[in-house]
Amino acid sequence: MSRFNVQSVIFWPSHSTNPITLPAPIINQLDELTQWVRQQGQPPFRVRQVIKWIFENRAKSFEEMTDLPKSLRVALAQHYSLFSVRIAKHEVSNDGTEKLLVQLFDGGLVECVLLRDGDRRSICVSSQVGCAMGCVFCASGLDGVMRNLTAGEILEQMLSLQRLLPEDERISHIVMMGMGEPLANVENVVTALHWASAENGLGISPRRITISTVGLPPAIEKLAELDSRYHLAISLHAPNDELRNQLVPVNKKIGIAPLLEAADFYFDVSGRKLTFEYVLLAGINDQPQHAEELSQILYGRTAILNVIPYNPVEGLPFRTPSSETIARFREILESKNIVVKFRQRKGDKINAACGQLRRQKVQQLSSLS
Ligand code: SF4
Repeated sequence: MSRFNVQSVIFWPSHSTNPITLPAPIINQLDELTQWVRQQGQPPFRVRQVIKWIFENRAKSFEEMTDLPKSLRVALAQHYSLFSVRIAKHEVSNDGTEKLLVQLFDGGLVECVLLRDGDRRSICVSSQVGCAMGCVFCASGLDGVMRNLTAGEILEQMLSLQRLLPEDERISHIVMMGMGEPLANVENVVTALHWASAENGLGISPRRITISTVGLPPAIEKLAELDSRYHLAISLHAPNDELRNQLVPVNKKIGIAPLLEAADFYFDVSGRKLTFEYVLLAGINDQPQHAEELSQILYGRTAILNVIPYNPVEGLPFRTPSSETIARFREILESKNIVVKFRQRKGDKINAACGQLRRQKVQQLSSLS
């Protein structure tokens, strides 16, 4: 299922304007590895060993892959690079949340987060550099979209976060909810999640993997066709088109009714319970009539409503609702038998809201230039 064509990467070190040409990242070439290993005169089981070193043993270099013959390790290092990204910034919050700002080979920046909650080790991963959806309350969309991430770049975020864990801990959950709209990059996201869920990859059950989307109906259908084993979380943020058009501008081209139709299709194909996400913005979508409307459009669906009190973003005018407003919103929904969860805002202190850290860095860099 290879969809990669990267043969080599040009890397711009942060301290230099001179590019360095690196061999192609191996993570982008896993499907071609069998053929390459055969060309080296090595038996096919060497591929399994390499893949195990990457995903399970968290190798940082080919040299570490000590059960491979020395000659093969040297050939691997000449032909491939193990990683194409570098960590530009690493922040740790008191609640155990860790956030990485990841620099890509072309200088692009994306963010990913590790969240600790009891036994859970959840990671939140980006799918694009920037985002074209333009949600008005989000830092990621402020500068538009630069490009899609390759499947390898999505996987490298996962591997970078995995390396923050002690050896006896594993990633338990993945949420594609970082920077970007995953379904605008659906093929690469599906390829990355294939390796995330594969037994010889990260081995994470598809039940514990969530793709979070503003909801692009044709892409939801494509996802259902390509691989519908994952949870779908649809960012609704408003109970009617008038308000959603303002908060999630791409809605003008979609509309809530076709979106719900596509969501129902995904549920029919996958059997996975749907999640609807709703960022609660003070004075905008947090009023009793919004809760009433929301309960009407969700009524009868096998779904969970995830309400997230807004995480303020510097430079944007939105605020977190008061605890009384949040409680009233919840009461109304529960009285209508909507299954609703209110998510804690973990990682506030380290700007865990998507896109904030990247935006700070980009602003710093542009103030230097
Ligand atoms: S909330 Fe998600 S979809 Fe909307 S602009 Fe931000 S990253 Fe894009």
